[in-house]
Amino acid sequence: MPEDVVSSELRKQHLIDPEICIRCNTCEATCPVGAVTHDDNNYVVDAEKCNFCLDCIAPCPTGSIDNWRVVRAAWSIEDQLGWNELPAQENIAGDTSQLSGDAVEDEIEALLATAHAGAGGKVGPPASAAKPAVNLFRRAKPAIAVVQGNYRITAADTESDVRHIVLGFGDTPFPVLEGQSIGIVPPGTRADGKPHDVRLYSIASARDGEKRSANNLALTVKRVPGGVGSNYVCDLKIGDKVQVTGPFGATFLMPNAHDANVIMICTGTGSAPFRAFTEQRRRTGQNVTGKFVLFFGARTPQELPYFGPLQKVPDSLLEKHLVFSRVPGSDKEYVQDRIRREAVDMGTLLQSPKTHIFICGLKGMEAGVDEALADVCRKHRLDWTALKPDMRAQGRFHVETY
Ligand code: NAP
Repeated sequence: MPEDVVSSELRKQHLIDPEICIRCNTCEATCPVGAVTHDDNNYVVDAEKCNFCLDCIAPCPTGSIDNWRVVRAAWSIEDQLGWNELPAQENIAGDTSQLSGDAVEDEIEALLATAHAGAGGKVGPPASAAKPAVNLFRRAKPAIAVVQGNYRITAADTESDVRHIVLGFGDTPFPVLEGQSIGIVPPGTRADGKPHDVRLYSIASARDGEKRSANNLALTVKRVPGGVGSNYVCDLKIGDKVQVTGPFGATFLMPNAHDANVIMICTGTGSAPFRAFTEQRRRTGQNVTGKFVLFFGARTPQELPYFGPLQKVPDSLLEKHLVFSRVPGSDKEYVQDRIRREAVDMGTLLQSPKTHIFICGLKGMEAGVDEALADVCRKHRLDWTALKPDMRAQGRFHVETY
């Protein structure tokens, strides 16, 4: 039976949730069969072209792509382009008449789960990660956070205005895990009169907040000249109210196992989730045995977010490799150069089934880091082309680059 056929009358259909989608185009750019398309309103999947390869699932930063319905007749592209929200699952009880209530739901869940099975490209979460809550707040009904802090974490005399923003949720439960992201809705409208798209930011604080039980979280945001989202966030004042969606992300999550080795590789504001990982490790890591290693690239120490606080994190907690590309009088160094220099230790770590790699930051660094890891493997008689897919399949290799 073809992948999408559930019975002679039913088929599975792959859909994108328009309430969560941030229109970043990764799904359309990834789809190998041209099944994803878009207009000014929505990104949609052509049911006649989608072959269920699932290549689009992992790159989607919000999870909006991971939606499925069992239908009698597929929704057309025109239908989907007009949606503001996903339609509810059609009641197909007539086709499963021997089932009722929860059993029908279970059957549907089981059918939908097959759509996710055997996903060549899909990366699961680390086996020991806690179970995340996702999509609790949507654009139509966002959480309202109050700004509790906004301060600069790069030197004042540099071009890079990177800010640490703290958002408090008061009495509203907003549960998060390290590695998840939130959406921020900038107020106002675009030139065409439509509301601004939601902007996605990684959470830079541990699951229980900047201060334990404070029900708040932190972001790391760089001001981009002319950027609607980043200027809105970087200009927030204490007491301002902010519309927040999410939380998002169910795979790029910190492993909880005490013996997990965690290798974190980042550039610039891609450090946000790793600040969250580090804070969590600081709070809970008394009995950990796994290594915790950070490769962090910036132009200069003055432009490296959290440079001062990072110096104070003890080496026993975090092995730090801070590398700089534009320090006058010094050679340019990228994270991948340092990974090669650390080949002995890295090779040992790569051989361990307890090692997880997380990469976050500039898209451009992906290829360089990949080559560096391949070089490390060659030195240790390992085959990166085999090891990488193994690590992915085991939820031990994660990439979040923009
Ligand atoms: P940046 O300051 O532009 O760059 C940081 C460092 O990366 C610089 O030293 C830069 O060197 C170096 N670099 C440039 N190309 C590289 C390459 N091919 N390989 C390795 N290193 C390279 O960084 P940024 O502006 O903060 O950007 C960080 C990225 O993280 C953005 O794309 C952002 O969207 C993403 N991100 C942000 C968040 C968040 O929550 N804010 C979360 C996840 C990801 P040179 O410039 O000297 O060449």
